[in-house]
Amino acid sequence: MNIGAHLSVAKGFALMGETAVSIGANTFQFFSRNPRGSKSVEIEKKDVDELIKIMNKNKFAAILAHAPYTINACSDKQNVRDFAKIMFREDLEKLEKLPCKLYVFHPGNHMKQGEEVAIQYLIDALNDVLNPEYTTMFLLETMSGKGTEIGKTFKELKKIINGVKLKEKIGVCLDTCHVYSAGYDIVNNLNKVIDEFDSIIGLNRLKAVHLNDSLTEFASHKDRHACIGKGYIGLDAMRKVIMHPKLKKLPFFLETPTDLKGYAKEIELLTKF
Ligand code: FE
Ligand code: FE
Ligand code: ZN
Repeated sequence: MNIGAHLSVAKGFALMGETAVSIGANTFQFFSRNPRGSKSVEIEKKDVDELIKIMNKNKFAAILAHAPYTINACSDKQNVRDFAKIMFREDLEKLEKLPCKLYVFHPGNHMKQGEEVAIQYLIDALNDVLNPEYTTMFLLETMSGKGTEIGKTFKELKKIINGVKLKEKIGVCLDTCHVYSAGYDIVNNLNKVIDEFDSIIGLNRLKAVHLNDSLTEFASHKDRHACIGKGYIGLDAMRKVIMHPKLKKLPFFLETPTDLKGYAKEIELLTKF
């Protein structure tokens, strides 16, 4: 089982590795920069070397970087789109210095331009930024469809992927709270949802899973994470997700509203029963 949680990067990378181990995890997710601002995280070689040691010793699965929420590569404003590309490029540069090859981001908000225009802007941005010299793969996160979010259906994600030239650099991160909220019933029809993902996008593109329960009901198009077993998805369905034969080799990341103790309990709840 490859499971981890979203951790704070504030005190360095080695400490995140240690923290992951201390909560029973063998991977973790971190923000590439301040989630609501744009301040970048400093990277020191000594710290990174220490993290690599911890990862090797504890047989870590792939770790995952998360882009800030403020990036909107498909905005109706040119300066916002340009800023997104600058952020993407800076993050790519930075990730080359880390043992992290996966970078998840929210596809963006179309801001009343409609999905078509927005998807084309995002495709253009990705084709501008992605470069065979970088080793990082960009992961589109499945979204709940709140406001004007794009990426709320597998078909929309597929359209984006279709437009990307460097196909080996694009994948998907499935968020359980978001897909449930978007109207994919992983509680009653998990197999059907997985088959649909496979036939539209292809399971080979699925590289990570965000493991969150949902505070709001099925198809509510809200994005409110709940702790595992405390939401509308429920513990049983969450366990079926992580144990599913077609998913179980993936890295799973908790983004639940809790603290380190809470994460440790959730990991135990999900893996030991
Ligand atoms: Fe996210
Ligand atoms: Fe998520
Ligand atoms: Zn979310």
